[in-house]
Parts: sequence; C-alpha cells; structure tokens
Amino acid sequence: MAVLDFAHLTWEEVRDLDRTKAVAILPVGAVEAHGPHLPLGTDVIIAETMARAAGARLAARGYDALVLPPLAYTAADFAAGFPGTVSVRPTTVTALLVDLARSLARHRVSVLAVANAHLDPAHLAAIEAAVVQNGPEAGARIVFPDITRKPWAVRLTAEFQSGACHAGQYESSIVMAARPELVREAIRRSLPANPRSLSVAIRSGQTSFEAAGGPRAYFGSPADAGVDEGARTIDVLGAILAEAVLAELAP
Ligand SMILES: [Zn+2]
Repeated sequence: MAVLDFAHLTWEEVRDLDRTKAVAILPVGAVEAHGPHLPLGTDVIIAETMARAAGARLAARGYDALVLPPLAYTAADFAAGFPGTVSVRPTTVTALLVDLARSLARHRVSVLAVANAHLDPAHLAAIEAAVVQNGPEAGARIVFPDITRKPWAVRLTAEFQSGACHAGQYESSIVMAARPELVREAIRRSLPANPRSLSVAIRSGQTSFEAAGGPRAYFGSPADAGVDEGARTIDVLGAILAEAVLAELAP
C-alpha cells in the first residue's frame, strides 16, 4: 500500500481504491508567528511531515494513507498580537472537521486521522469538540492523539515536555529537517534561550505569547536545534499518529 496525496488523485483513482483499507490523514497547523527565524506556516510544515511519516507506517501495515490538503487556518489567539498571525474562531474549526468527517464517510473512508502540530489551547479544544460532535456513527471516525497529553507527550523531547515548546529547539529542529531553506539560520543561531513554559503560563491564566514572556514569539532554545533531532522527532510524531490509528482500527 502507499502514501497518496489525496488532491493529486483523480476521482476514478479514488473510486478504484479499496477504501476499506484506506485512512485519510489531515495535517493541521496554523498561520502564526514562530519567532524571528521560522516561517508563519511552521505548524503546517510540521503537521505535513507528521502525516507522511504516519502514512508510511500505515502503508507498511496494509493501509493506503490518503494525505489530505492541510488545514492551515485555525484558532491562534496566543499569537494574535504578532503581524502575520491569522486566526479563526474555534467553532469554525470544529464545524469544518465534522463536515470533513461526514463527507469522507459518504465516500466510505471510515477514519480521519488528525496530524496536529498547533498547540494553542483553544485550537486543541476545537478538535476535541469535533471528536465529540462527530459521534460514533455520523462521520468518519476522527482519530486525534493530542501530543500535549499522556501517553504521547512523554515520547517527545525534554524541551517539548517543559512547555517551552513554541519555535524553540523542538520545532526549529523539525523545520531544519523538513524545509531547511525556510529557516533564517543566522537569526536562529543568535537567539538567546527563553525557557519560560507556555503550559505553566496557560495554567496561570495568560492568554498571549507576550503575557507568557515571549516578546518575539518564541519559547525554548532555537540555537540548540539540529537536523538530527528534527528527523528523530518526525519519526516519533509519525509513530504516535500511526499507533493511534491502528488502535482505533483494532478489532
Ligand atoms: Zn508551532
């Protein structure tokens, strides 16, 4: 079986797929500020690499992985104060995901796996709401492993688990591995570490990167990022999503 770009297929190719053995994967990111060294679409890039890594694992297990065009617009309130951040209402995201699951189900695709790389709490809640609203029978089952939670988070890097996980070592490494030409390397290497934890800030009621102590929209240590770490993390993200899908498909 194969990893297929869904939007590059023709309708007859989709018709001829064994859709009982197909899993749709939706990369989900955001268009938002990611420090002075990473592009606005960083989370979309990360989500696409996660989707493909998961797809390769699912293909090896006998499923066609249908990688959908990514969802790049979502709730991004924490970064809203920075030029370039585009944010939509969480309810819009929830409705879109539920509609996608229903439309795919009409074509007998029974699983919609969400490869999510954007960690804004309002966005995570919007995906969770879609899982609940979708219900067990209405649409394709939405599989959403939230990497900020157990059992997944502990498999990611120490910086990620510290909560200083926006445009720092963790995300910079992935972009260096996936799209190195988009990293502003001279700036990245010059940035001092910002160890403030976004998860701590969120728990104490902060609602913006500025209030959380990130005046340049990064947390963590971009200067410590590297291609090898990025490749390892992509592999782990793919494994997490593939395992979540296979658990859902298990009889
Ligand atoms: Zn990000």
